[in-house]
Amino acid sequence: MDKAVRAGKPLVVFLDRDGVICRYFARDFTKSWEEFEFLPGARKALKLLNQAGARVIIISNQSGVNKGIYSAEDLKEIDRRMTEAVVVCGGRIDASFYCPHIPEEACLCRKPGTGLVTKAASELHLNLKESAVYFVGDSETDIITGHRADLTTILVLSGQTVLAKETEGWTIKPDHIAPDLPGALKYIL
Ligand SMILES: [Mg+2]
Ligand SMILES: [Zn+2]
Repeated sequence: MDKAVRAGKPLVVFLDRDGVICRYFARDFTKSWEEFEFLPGARKALKLLNQAGARVIIISNQSGVNKGIYSAEDLKEIDRRMTEAVVVCGGRIDASFYCPHIPEEACLCRKPGTGLVTKAASELHLNLKESAVYFVGDSETDIITGHRADLTTILVLSGQTVLAKETEGWTIKPDHIAPDLPGALKYIL
């Protein structure tokens, strides 16, 4: 949705976590708070979204849980400390939804499935049809998820994808491409 058409509509921003808010580890996971590293400007961007009245929701695949690499408790602890650190900086994460499953479990919540978007909308009583809704992520999977849920998609080049030209082979193209979350705000605010 263009900024011009969304005047007056509630703003909802779905964010992937790794590669958007915090550092992405190729072929590895963020297994503990010690390994969690905010990306430059991410907390400031969350503050600006909060000031704009946006609902901010994390949607993240964390198959490391069911692979036994870290526990559901570890993930919860990372989420709690991340959320607290964002609040300290004047931002706000309304809720986080994680898929702990591995692909073989064929769940409905693992991205590019839209199960967690639907769940978030239901639990937070969001009317996505009547809102300006964005999905910001660093991978093709995120862009497919946002596209399937009929949201405006923004690819950030601060994680798994680092070059805009990597999207050339993608069937589903992002609506916008930004260097990082702070850069993505240009399309949202
Ligand atoms: Mg990611
Ligand atoms: Zn799942």
